[in-house]
Amino acid sequence: MAAVVVCGGSVVGLSTAMMLGRAGHRVTVLEADPDGAPTTPAAAWSAWRRKGVPQFQQAHTVFARFREVCDAELPGLTDRLLAAGCVQVDPAAHLPPTLADRSPREGDERLRYVTGRRAVVEAVVAAAAEEHTGITVRRGERAAGLVPGPSAVAGVPHVAGVRLAGGEVLPADLVVDAMGRRTPTAGWLVEMGARPPVVESADRGFMYFTRFFTGPRAPEQRGPALTPMGGFSVLTLEGDNGTWSVTLYAPAHDTPLKALRSPEVFDRLVGACPRQAHWLDGRPASGVLPIAGVLDRYRRFVVDGRPVATGFLAVGDAWACTNPSAGRGLTVGVVHAQLLARAVAEHLDRPGDLALVHDDATERTLTPFYRAQMAMDEARHAEMEALRQGRQPPAPDPFSARLQTAAMVDADVFRALLATVQCLTPPQEAFTRPDVLARITAQEPAPPSPGIPRERLLEFVAA
Ligand SMILES: Cc1cc2nc3c(=O)[nH]c(=O)nc-3n(C[C@H](O)[C@H](O)[C@H](O)COP(=O)(O)OP(=O)(O)OC[C@H]3O[C@@H](n4cnc5c(N)ncnc54)[C@H](O)[C@@H]3O)c2cc1C
Repeated sequence: MAAVVVCGGSVVGLSTAMMLGRAGHRVTVLEADPDGAPTTPAAAWSAWRRKGVPQFQQAHTVFARFREVCDAELPGLTDRLLAAGCVQVDPAAHLPPTLADRSPREGDERLRYVTGRRAVVEAVVAAAAEEHTGITVRRGERAAGLVPGPSAVAGVPHVAGVRLAGGEVLPADLVVDAMGRRTPTAGWLVEMGARPPVVESADRGFMYFTRFFTGPRAPEQRGPALTPMGGFSVLTLEGDNGTWSVTLYAPAHDTPLKALRSPEVFDRLVGACPRQAHWLDGRPASGVLPIAGVLDRYRRFVVDGRPVATGFLAVGDAWACTNPSAGRGLTVGVVHAQLLARAVAEHLDRPGDLALVHDDATERTLTPFYRAQMAMDEARHAEMEALRQGRQPPAPDPFSARLQTAAMVDADVFRALLATVQCLTPPQEAFTRPDVLARITAQEPAPPSPGIPRERLLEFVAA
């Protein structure tokens, strides 16, 4: 049994803590934000303040791989999400109208996923962690630095605890960084004498505008949940407890589109989207909730085959984060927590091996999702930017363009695409089945979505 300190008590930090607690370790979670989760979903939404999580009021999908990990490691968590009013979406029961073959397939139930408002999802995870044996969650406690200890591997600094903002030192056999996308630990490690970790970062520069609605029945999806509309994209999601959301996103420096903060302008533009306008048919349950400055970042703590430090592992967004257009940060995060818990089970007493095994599992299992998402975001950003500047958008990658067509007309390709979106199949294996691959390559590439022409878009957002 080891003493573990998890820095960051959001969904991924708490899930990691529960998995380690289940294995018998004594886990302390440090969370900078002071308030604990309210006990009802309504209060979680209206009264829980989480300065440390800027996307706290956005809609969140909780994908199928999240459920599979929880069924194995945190049984009952998905049932608790549903009991709190989150919604289970069954894509096979609501196939796009363009698919002629509507017969069920074996394994369709694997594609079901859950959606809810982030605050409600996190309140469920927080309540489960509070009840868990072996875990102490200290809210209002900010980690302020790492404490060095004797090296376990010659020449490699070892982390032996955490220093809190108030000066207290918590000794630990292992420190887990779950402090999200703005974690300061790369600098802390270097201050301890570690070689700098690999850090890749970019601001792809999207801004998001979300509005929630409520009503007796959620609107039907008349196309994909995420639809490119030329200079912006629109995402429609069912939420918890009779709510649903519409999110619009666009390049952050597309200044005229900042007017979408106004509910009137937002509703006007959504009303012009043919397959989404009916999502306005409800009572507004919020104003327009904007968020920008969402960084893409990837960090690696093994450089040239050696860990930069031992006694320290990063998980979730503290390891890597992208723009949320695929909506799978939580899913990737709990898969990462599972990989971490498995590595700890085998290698805790050999800190050098632990760091290498966690890095190897992360690279093999999760980095392909990060790279695939970056490529998609880059392509979409370039397309939006070209339209904003009145240029011809760059030609899309031919395989992706054919895949878009195929997924709308071929029921197996549709399912294969959904399985990789939901992290059930790694991107590099998603379309390798020879019959599926042949059916994709036989398609004509989808033409770029015409969306709403720039001049009309500017009219819609004009005051
Ligand atoms: C607009 C938007 C929409 C999204 N939609 C989805 C979606 O639909 N589905 C999905 O799966 N993902 C989505 N994501 C991504 C998802 O929100 C993140 O991937 C997820 O929150 C990462 O969880 P985490 O626990 O790793 O980090 P975070 O949730 O960022 O939590 C980090 C925690 O660390 C705490 N902390 C920070 N510094 C310290 C410190 N010094 N000491 C102690 N505590 C500290 C913070 O207070 C916070 O609680 C979205 C993101 C954005 C921006």
